[in-house]
Amino acid sequence: MRVVIGHLYPEYLNIYADRGNIAVLERRARWRGIELEYETIGLGQSIDAGKHDLFYIGGGQDREQAFVAPDLAGRGGQLRAAVEAGAAVLAVCGGYQLLGRFYRDRAGVELPGAGLFPLHTVAGERRMIGDVLLECELEPGVPRTLAGFENHAGRTILGPEAEPLGRVVVGFGNDGDSGFEGCRLGRALGTYLHGPLLPRSPWLADWLLAQALAHRSGEEPPELEPLEDELEAQAHRVSAERARRRGGRF
Ligand code: GLN
Repeated sequence: MRVVIGHLYPEYLNIYADRGNIAVLERRARWRGIELEYETIGLGQSIDAGKHDLFYIGGGQDREQAFVAPDLAGRGGQLRAAVEAGAAVLAVCGGYQLLGRFYRDRAGVELPGAGLFPLHTVAGERRMIGDVLLECELEPGVPRTLAGFENHAGRTILGPEAEPLGRVVVGFGNDGDSGFEGCRLGRALGTYLHGPLLPRSPWLADWLLAQALAHRSGEEPPELEPLEDELEAQAHRVSAERARRRGGRF
């Protein structure tokens, strides 16, 4: 078993411990004997269609987003085709915003998006900062929780056809108002949760690995061998409790 991860613009979009997410994917793959190839994708670098089973794009501030936005927007068609062909995506914060249709900053400057997710983002006056707890149901009938930290000025508005990643239990979420967080399009997920996200939500790391394996094999996502996860469960509990105690509100 083998998966190939393509990490988009790690030299620019990296402010939220994004390496931590990659480390969790690498380690959980290795513990199960899954070979994981990690590749970075930089500005202007061409990529082979179908090569990557999972794309990762992290968070950055407006300045870094402006550096990568035109390049990423130019990859829109390729990314949409990859997701249609079953590739998985995890996009966090600034990367999540740029996979939508556009991001408009406080000065009204609009950055083009890759147009993968049917959403757009407009910066508001007050930043939405704090611990978040979500309830998600990526598989119908299997509710699970995600815990992380959010810090964004952008308000993300989902299009009518968009499916959110989860329901906000505590925190602001996409826009501080709708009660929803993130976006899901097949095997592609976008979210504001960082801190990083996967060390405290290991089930999501496994979900992504299983989707990536399914992309490679062309079969259904495999059932992954369970791991001990005692510390990971504790990390999740602590984050969830912190969110319940002092989750983001204005
Ligand atoms: N443009 C972003 C924002 O909404 C990027 C995320 C960030 O820097 N925290 O603030």
